[in-house]
Amino acid sequence: MKKQTQAIHTSYHRPDPYGALSVPIYHAVAYEFPDAQEMSDAFCGRIDAPDYSRVENPTVTHFEHRVKALTGAEDVIAFNSGMAAISNAMMALTQSGRKLLSSRHLFGNTFSLLTQTLSRFGVGTKLCDLTDLEAVRQAVDDSVCCIFLEIVTNPQLEVADLKALAAVARERGIPLVADTTAIPFTQFSAKELGVDIEIVSSTKYISGGATSLGGLIIDYGRFPAFRQRIRFEMLFNLGAYMTPQAAYMQTLGLETLDARYRVQAQNAQTLAERLTTLEPIRHVNYIGLPTNAYYSLAREQFGPTSGAMLTIELADREACFRFINRLQLIHRATNLFDNRTLAIHPASTIFGNFPPHQRARMGVSDSVVRISVGLEAVDDLFADIRQALS
Ligand SMILES: *Cc1c(COP(=O)(O)O)cnc(C)c1O
Repeated sequence: MKKQTQAIHTSYHRPDPYGALSVPIYHAVAYEFPDAQEMSDAFCGRIDAPDYSRVENPTVTHFEHRVKALTGAEDVIAFNSGMAAISNAMMALTQSGRKLLSSRHLFGNTFSLLTQTLSRFGVGTKLCDLTDLEAVRQAVDDSVCCIFLEIVTNPQLEVADLKALAAVARERGIPLVADTTAIPFTQFSAKELGVDIEIVSSTKYISGGATSLGGLIIDYGRFPAFRQRIRFEMLFNLGAYMTPQAAYMQTLGLETLDARYRVQAQNAQTLAERLTTLEPIRHVNYIGLPTNAYYSLAREQFGPTSGAMLTIELADREACFRFINRLQLIHRATNLFDNRTLAIHPASTIFGNFPPHQRARMGVSDSVVRISVGLEAVDDLFADIRQALS
């Protein structure tokens, strides 16, 4: 089956007594057993049965099962936010005295997780330019326990060569961990590009209209101890498993994910092309524009679509604020890949608490507005942007 079919037809793995077509929401904490032996078997993992919803819930299991079918993963574990998935993965991969190798171009909270929170526990982070393979080779020494990156960085829209990074990781026997939130897994295979552990904020494209928070760890099984640690240590001890309501909404989101994404990506492509004609815009950054530095690599890795995030550069911060204030249709909001188009000034919001010199080193410019393109008619979006600039 093709992925679009699989997303809808991967069936519920236990029969529902009423034959419900959509997955039931098991709003339950605990599960009863017929006798003490079966209870012991469930608790000790000898049989596959849920015992407590902090670590397993049938509705969440179904959601995980569908993502597993779509990605060909060894295991998929769902968390209650993208940050929960990232922090749990990091807690499982590292320990005091070890280091993570990553870049300065990271989602703001991920950057602060690595450089502040984890550093208090003795975990170091080496930051280097992950598009510079020589720099990566130099940085990977015996202390480094994984390479972590985002496939299209936000808001810089930088793309690293995943196959090349995977080769470096393989040489060293360490996992390549990729946050793939920017392009859905229905469009490309991170596994085939050499990613060992994929992480997704399912809050974004998957939830379908920003209905719920969620995160996924998609494990391709090359480091078996990792999966064990997530399932049998992190879920139990950190307690960040997805809720059944979120899993229900995100299962529905998964069914329309590819259809929604195709429209959003097409809208973003058309809009990016048309915005290059508007006088006050100094630069349009979108990886789907043939003039973009990452265009070829992005095509090679992710296929013919380029995501729904673009940025525009105006004269300065004041011009960005004036533009954002005059928008009538496009919403002033954070979040990415909602059904609605959203605009934000990253430097004063998501990165607003970083000192200016650090923002500059992170490639977050004061004169850039980020636009997450939704499902509206692209003519309406273009008209709103043009009037806001006029
Ligand atoms: C939003 C986002 C996150 C965090 O996800 P939440 O679900 O908001 O916790 C992590 N990485 C990327 C690339 C994101 O866009």
